Amino acid sequence: MPHTHPLCLGLDVGGSGIKAGLLDADDKVIVSRNVPTPVNSTPRAVLDVLVKLTGEMTAEAGIKSADLAGIGIGFPGLVDARAGVVKACVNLQDWHNIPVTTMLVNRMGANVPVTIANDANAAALGEHRHYHKINPKIEHLALITLGTGVGSGIVLNGRMFEGGTGLAGEVGHMIVRANGRKCACGQYGCLERYASASAIVGRVREMIERGSESLLTFVVDDPSRKLTAENVVTAAREGDALSRRIIDEAAEFLAIGCVNLCRVIDLQAIIIGGGITGAGDLLLKPVLDNFRIQNWSVAEAPMPDIRLTSLGGDAGFVGCAAMARQRFAAGPGTPPQV
Ligand SMILES: [Zn+2]
Repeated sequence: MPHTHPLCLGLDVGGSGIKAGLLDADDKVIVSRNVPTPVNSTPRAVLDVLVKLTGEMTAEAGIKSADLAGIGIGFPGLVDARAGVVKACVNLQDWHNIPVTTMLVNRMGANVPVTIANDANAAALGEHRHYHKINPKIEHLALITLGTGVGSGIVLNGRMFEGGTGLAGEVGHMIVRANGRKCACGQYGCLERYASASAIVGRVREMIERGSESLLTFVVDDPSRKLTAENVVTAAREGDALSRRIIDEAAEFLAIGCVNLCRVIDLQAIIIGGGITGAGDLLLKPVLDNFRIQNWSVAEAPMPDIRLTSLGGDAGFVGCAAMARQRFAAGPGTPPQV
């Protein structure tokens, strides 16, 4: 064996790409891969890619699949980790109640330990593993990723918190405004409708269409162009007052969400991820300012450490590998401790 501690494989399945990493017990990446998700993203096609990646990456490390301490896989959807079943993935084709764990064990052998989770929950664990090295006292953390929606996961006592049915940690569907904007989930006033990258872009477009002045007017007026979060970040950096105001508004709602989270589960750290974090302090500073304004004053409550992600897109596979290591800690041949 070339490695004294068995390696774990993390596989992070996304709608457009699959990121994979073979990690040692210190989360050092031994081998990594980044491949596109098959265009025909059916369970069979995606599992083919996962089996192929596992074979190639273990071979590159000089081990067999059965030598792995665990394989952890994150999926962008509803996951029943105990049953080993992916219940639904809207961004992948025909993923309804797929018994992934059984299917992979059938293909790779009964002694290959496979376990699954929701990708955002796994990414939160990845952030925790990374952050824990900077500050070993941090055991309770949330990751909030601002994208098309708001993806998020919670780590309590150093482990993913998945709740009763695997649906915990949906910070984006916390209601932050009574009778607010309608959300795709059926509720009104969800954080996602105010603080996601899409919500920020939508608000800027709406305000320009209503006549607000902005450096981005020419983008909105040109039907051949699509306004993006990157456009808004760039304009804000160039001093566009409208873009700054809309980012500030999103930051205020995000801060309210963070305060609520801290009241309920007393988080020590909150990591903010997603492409919009390219805004840097233009986003982070108003979140911190608004957190201080909204935060309680009854006690000398220490501020949680709110910061932008430093792992970025790698958090997913790091977390998947760490999850496999935790769940299969009892050793080979034992079921995962979910
Ligand atoms: Zn919602």
